Formats: sequence, C-alpha cells, structure tokens
Amino acid sequence: MYNPKSKIATEFIDDTEIQETLAYAAENKANFPLIDQILEKAATLKGLNHREAAVLLECEDPGYLEKIYALAREIKEKNYGNRIVMFAPLYLSNYCVNECRYCPYHHHNKHIARKQLSQEEIVREVVALQDMGHKRLALETGEDPVNCPIDYVLESIKTIYGIKHKNGAIRRVNVNIAATTVENYRKLKEAGIGTYILFQETYNKKSYEYLHPAGPKSNYNYHTEAMDRAMEAGIDDVGCGVLFGLNLYKYDFVGILMHAEHLEAVFGVGPHTISVPRVRTADDIDPDEFNNAISDETFQKIVAVLRVAVPYTGMIISTRESKRTREKVLDLGISQISGGSRTSVGGYAEEEPEEENSAQFDISDNRTLDQVVNWLMDLGHIPSFCTACYREGRTGDRFMSLVKSQQIGNCCQPNALMTLKEYLMDYASPDTRAKGERMIQETIPKIPNEKVRRLTVEHLADIANGKRDFRF
Ligand code: SF4
Ligand code: SF4
Repeated sequence: MYNPKSKIATEFIDDTEIQETLAYAAENKANFPLIDQILEKAATLKGLNHREAAVLLECEDPGYLEKIYALAREIKEKNYGNRIVMFAPLYLSNYCVNECRYCPYHHHNKHIARKQLSQEEIVREVVALQDMGHKRLALETGEDPVNCPIDYVLESIKTIYGIKHKNGAIRRVNVNIAATTVENYRKLKEAGIGTYILFQETYNKKSYEYLHPAGPKSNYNYHTEAMDRAMEAGIDDVGCGVLFGLNLYKYDFVGILMHAEHLEAVFGVGPHTISVPRVRTADDIDPDEFNNAISDETFQKIVAVLRVAVPYTGMIISTRESKRTREKVLDLGISQISGGSRTSVGGYAEEEPEEENSAQFDISDNRTLDQVVNWLMDLGHIPSFCTACYREGRTGDRFMSLVKSQQIGNCCQPNALMTLKEYLMDYASPDTRAKGERMIQETIPKIPNEKVRRLTVEHLADIANGKRDFRF
C-alpha cells in the first residue's frame, strides 16, 4: 500500500503506485489542457508530484517539449543563475564483496587490479587534486568490511581535511559509500562530511534483485532505506541517483521522485542532489548487455523534467558523459559537474599502468580541469569552487528555506566569483585566466545587493593580494 510517510521501502516506493502512475502518464500524454496546468504549476517553482512529472516525461508533442525545455532553462536561470559548481571523485578502494552486474568492482572479477590507498597515497592524490584547483571531492569506495572498514573511511576524511599544500584546500568532502548503519552515519556526520551520496541504481525491486545477486547490497529494502538512516543520524544533505540504462527509465524516474517525496514527508527536506549517470563501458562490463539504454534525447528530457519537478535540488553530471552531451544538458538544469576526473584508485598523482587497470568506468570527457573551466566560460557559465553552505552550517532545511525564498543566489553568485578568482590566481592557464578575469568584471555589476557587491570587490582585491577563503 503506497504511503510516502512509511519507513518501509516497498511502501514509499510502491510498485503498484509506480505502475498506475505510468499508466496515467500514458493516458494523458496528449491531454494538453492538463499539461498546460502542470506547466503553470511548475512555473510557480513549487515543484511537481511524481504523477504530474510523469505526464511531462511521457509527452511527445514537439511544441510542448519545447515548452518543457524552455521552462527548465528558465527555472535553472532563476534558481542557479549561470553558475556551475565543480568537483572531482576520489576513489579510495575498489575492494568489494557485492556482485553488481553493471560494475567491474563486483566480487568475482578476478582480473581487475584491487587497490586500497594508504594514507600516504591519499595525501599524494589530494595534493595532485589541489594542484589542479579542486576544493570539493566525492569519496568513492566499494563495500568491504575487511579491506575498507568505516574506520578507514573516517581516517581518510581526517587526512584529506588536514592537508595543507600551497594555497590549496579540500573544503568539502562528500561521501559515496555503501548503505550502512545509523551508528556509522553518525560517525560520518561527526567527521564533517558534506553530502552523503548513494545511488539506488534502480527502484524496481525485481530488477534490483536480478542486478544484485549476492552481497549485502542485494537487500533492496536495506539499501532503499539507507537515506532514512543517514538522516536519522543527522546527515541532512543526501544525494540520490539512479543508473539509467539498467531498468526502464520511466519507472526509475517516477521512483526517484517518490523517494524525494518520501524524504520530504518524513524529514521535511528532500534530497540535496540528484545524479543522473548512465551505464558505461568498463573492464568486464558491456553496456549493450543492458537493454534499457536511453538515447541522448531521452536523457535531455529526463534532466529537463527533473529540473521543473524538483527545482531546488542540485543536479549532477559526471565525466561518464561526453563534452557534447554535457553541453546539451547544462542549460537544462545541471548545477554541478566533475572535471579532470580519474575513476581508478590512485590515478591523480600518477597515471595508472594499463596492466593495472582499477577504473570503475571509462571516462567520456577526458579534458583537464583547466580545459573544462575554460569551456564552461565559453558557454557563458561561471565555474564555481564554492563550498560555503556546508561550512556556514547552511544544510538540510536551513539550506532549502534559503533556496526556496531565492535568497541563496545572494551567496552563490559572489562566492562563485571569489572562488573562481582563487582558481585563476593559483591554477589557471593564461588563456583561462584572461577569460575568467573578464567574466568576473562583467559579473560584478550584476550582483544586486550593493553591500554584497562592495564586499565582493574588496575580497577579490584581497585574493589578488594573496589572501584566500572568503565566503558569504
Ligand atoms: S557498484 Fe558499488 S557495491 Fe556494486 S560492485 Fe561496484 S563498487 Fe561494489
Ligand atoms: S553558496 Fe551554497 S548553494 Fe551556493 S554554490 Fe556555494 S555551497 Fe552551493
């Protein structure tokens, strides 16, 4: 029985409700008066429920699709402006006791190189990431209580926050580790993590169980209820995601919105971010084995409808996607992207020899961080290395209320300029620096609040004189 307030996974992600939603969406895909009403509601920035969003996703009319894209662009512009926040993944360990069919770290893969970074190796990796200019990391590990216990993850977080190297600093560590206990989530919270990220992969229980034949992750309910345990432990920024291509995308699209509605109903705050990865080629993984692959057009539609359905949730896209695809979805709602990424365990300090491949997936966008920053500016986006909210205690419902009242832009815009300035001073190539300086000068007059504008100008001058780490 569908109940968004239930703590039981199969009740807040109720299969019958999803099937009925899909049938309702199919019936109404050309019901233009209804679609007009849904678009009007979305334009008020109140978001949409999963049924309304499913109708938009099902709609195929070219004229209405254009309206959906235009609204997604408008909402993106209103809530996020032209800023794009940068991050990089850091793989700590690829030991894994699970058997996920779509990931080369699965336990029975005997030819992939297994590695776990020592604390010294983590220092080398993080120094390399800082030398690129990164300030925000997403830690990635496989699940292995022996080779990658929680204490190792906690020690690694402490190591990362403690590294002082030139002007560099990792100011926010997000963590993507396996579903765990409330007690362990509490430890992560105490270690000062930013967002706890966990992908559901698919919300369809039957597919989930097929895709996860063994290991702790095979327990659908335990995995799906992980965000509840994280939030119970006090982690109020959580990041959801599905791996598109594993299952029917429409099903997972409805599922992720129901998950967001559940978190909102129970904890008063939905997910901080939603990630939209697609299955990629990797060591012994061939994406063609999964027959639910989605086209670039469908992918764009998913991003756009998510943007109008959950206008206050950040949306993340990684280097799984090519430059071309990333370019197409930036305007439609993406707020965070990775750049200069390595998806192997220990690939930043030193290139991994081919025979020691430990990568989780092949990267489509191989450009350096500087090239990505430069390209973003060519497209009119401000690359931002901002980490201010979490450090100012603006998390969970405090963060959401600022976003919903559209006050967060007063912080995001100047923070983007100041962190970009740091990047230009410390890491940028001459061409990127010139473009960035121009962008900063052009953007300053657009800061609406006079006091914030004045302080921003002062801080930019301080950064030019060697000071660092200003934030609103
Ligand atoms: S997806 Fe995660 S849990 Fe599954 S095999 Fe890969 S690393 Fe392990
Ligand atoms: S001010 Fe907050 S919401 Fe805005 S970019 Fe910085 S961390 Fe993100």
